[in-house]
Amino acid sequence: MSSALVMPGGDVAPLERAGEQILRVENLTVSFDGFKAVDNLSLSVDRNELRVIIGPNGAGKTTLLDMICGKTKPTTGRVLFNGVDLTRMSEHQIVRAGVGRKFQTPSVYEDLTVLENFEISLPSMHGLFKSLTFRRTPQVRARIEAVADQVFLREQLERRAGQLSHGQKQWLEIGMLLMQGPELLLLDEPVAGMSPREREQTGDLLSRIAAGKSVVVIEHDMDFVQRIAHKVTVLHQGKLLSEGSAAEVQADRRVIDVYLGH
Ligand code: ADP
Ligand code: MG
Repeated sequence: MSSALVMPGGDVAPLERAGEQILRVENLTVSFDGFKAVDNLSLSVDRNELRVIIGPNGAGKTTLLDMICGKTKPTTGRVLFNGVDLTRMSEHQIVRAGVGRKFQTPSVYEDLTVLENFEISLPSMHGLFKSLTFRRTPQVRARIEAVADQVFLREQLERRAGQLSHGQKQWLEIGMLLMQGPELLLLDEPVAGMSPREREQTGDLLSRIAAGKSVVVIEHDMDFVQRIAHKVTVLHQGKLLSEGSAAEVQADRRVIDVYLGH
């Protein structure tokens, strides 16, 4: 795994090893009425990397994901995904480019079955009408079953999503993202509200996903972070406070002072 190409002082080195990097955030800043929620932040994520972002509440973690997925436009800076600047693209274009985003609260169609939720997530299946009238080809069915297997919902395909447990809804939403075939997944606190067993399963799931894609996860549970993270980025007041292995950031005095010590 290559190290970040961010130089001391926040400047960014030339793209020498661009092939290994899928995501590169450069000097990203967003001001809300003069308040900088993200402040001159630079970081990069490798292919097949599972990066975890931690930091106190209000550190700017969710806002960072919002800017990567196009929900929030930065005041200054760039977000390069495979070398293309996402800050110039709409949310739809960013999804089509291969970035999948999961928000903190699961958003699944509660009145539809698990199977139908997967169906409407297929690319080119825009809108409910189209999805409910399209023919269920063996290929579509096989793809849905493969994803359902991956997210532990193979036995739940005919159930209504509203009847799933909170953890299962989180898995369904991750599966719905996988149906789109993204190269990069952004997940905001995916194990919040899950049982210890579900957390463990989710950790395994994310590790398996990262074998073929890049994953950026915001998380608070340090046991979970330690288990899954290839590398951890610590944010504080919109800035990068520390970065390294889980063990390295946990031993970092600055991280202990502003976050882990509380
Ligand atoms: P985190 O996810 O790390 O807890 P957020 O990214 O949600 O933090 O928020 C960072 C800071 O930016 C917080 O102080 C929050 O109140 C502020 N913030 C986020 N979005 C907006 C917005 N749209 N307008 C004003 N302030 C915002
Ligand atoms: Mg948040």
